[in-house]
Amino acid sequence: MNALVAAVPDRDLLYGLLKAHAKPVPRYTSYPTVPYWDKDFGEAEYVAALDEAGSTPERALSVYVHIPFCGKRCYYCGCNAMVTSRADVVEGYLDHLEREIEGVVDRIGTGRSVTQMHWGGGTPNFLSDRQTTRLFEMLASAFSFTHDAEISIEMDPRVATPSQPPLLRRLGFNRMSMGVQDFDPKVQAAIGRIQPESETVSLLENARDAGFESVNFDLVYGLPYQTTESFARTLNRVVELSPDRIATFSYAHLPEVRKIQRAVDASGLPQPREKLGLFLDTVDVLQEGGYQWIGFDHFAKPDDELAVAAREKRLLRNFMGYTTHAAPDQVAFGMSGIGCLAGRFVQNASRIDQWRDALDENHFPVVRGHHMTRDDEIRSLVIQHLMCNLEIRDDLTEAPFGGTVDALLGDELDALAPFEEEGFLVREGRDWEVTETGRFFMRNIASTLDPYLRAPQRELPVFSSSV
Ligand code: SF4
Repeated sequence: MNALVAAVPDRDLLYGLLKAHAKPVPRYTSYPTVPYWDKDFGEAEYVAALDEAGSTPERALSVYVHIPFCGKRCYYCGCNAMVTSRADVVEGYLDHLEREIEGVVDRIGTGRSVTQMHWGGGTPNFLSDRQTTRLFEMLASAFSFTHDAEISIEMDPRVATPSQPPLLRRLGFNRMSMGVQDFDPKVQAAIGRIQPESETVSLLENARDAGFESVNFDLVYGLPYQTTESFARTLNRVVELSPDRIATFSYAHLPEVRKIQRAVDASGLPQPREKLGLFLDTVDVLQEGGYQWIGFDHFAKPDDELAVAAREKRLLRNFMGYTTHAAPDQVAFGMSGIGCLAGRFVQNASRIDQWRDALDENHFPVVRGHHMTRDDEIRSLVIQHLMCNLEIRDDLTEAPFGGTVDALLGDELDALAPFEEEGFLVREGRDWEVTETGRFFMRNIASTLDPYLRAPQRELPVFSSSV
């Protein structure tokens, strides 16, 4: 086995450990996690954050744009999406995005440098070519993209047209992520997403012909009727098609929270042990296929910059996913968009009417946020580094916070000792490294450094299990 291939722990042993350590733990896409943000954080706080960000024009930005539209709802969907066939609804949304972008730029200044932009959804390629061009031009006149900016878009192969990849490349997009989930027709029927393989292959070929630097496939495991054999066929086909990156997501069946999931036949869902097997098979097949395992559920070719950054322990993550281009401040546009600006997390209204009405009344559509304390920032850095780079390095906080992790978090690190005894962490001098088994328990490890979990919640979180 070469040095880039991580060993997968014994399956029986791992299953037993996962059962023994099963508890709801956050995914840690942010720290503190969203359920602990402040519902009283409103427009005044956001304006203060924007003004503070406006006083540091040299700081680069990341930009997220949420485009919620889809032609039809998939049964497994957990995204903030809405179905429409009305062009006027989409046009109205773009009008309001324009207003939101203008409001932000009025405060932080026009032409701010952007190192990363991501369009997510929903289905961003639901927009027509004219609407795509209009939205991109709005953003390009508000911001200044650096020459090496990472500009990415989520695409649904079912609605992709041959003209989209070349148009997107001409505009400046260089990365594309496409939803694949599973190639098996029975699984596709069970999730209400019929996507012939030819549509995925066609979009992939068009993206490559257009010159996209990187294409990502999203896969989902734990879907109804997935079996070891059927998912192996999907995984082997994915390896043959050879996307640059692959993200694998665990399906969380929560029909009480996500009503659309009531359409999923729960009797076809794999049992927990089978679901773990599907993920471990994924790790095996993709590693054998030449991909490097990143974080918990991502894979990239070894020469991809994500893989290189992971090996060099400098991988970053924000609400847009793993990246090497994250800027210190992130602004978000569109319903449910989440930003992080001048030490404040901020989230927009999730409902389109609330988001639109606020903008119509010349307000920012903010519904919650969190002003980070110094302690939050220290823990955020430590947890992010753990989840991305599989280590807690004692000197990590010295430059930004003037003290080692040990000095700043003190006795709390004692809570990590049981993980060392279990074989999830090894201590090397003053640093901790996550083992191959420990990779399955990173959220548990992070949660011991999260005092908010021991405080009353502000609202019920929706956590998903590790596998
Ligand atoms: S395309 Fe994506 S966002 Fe739209 S309904 Fe399907 S899963 Fe949800």
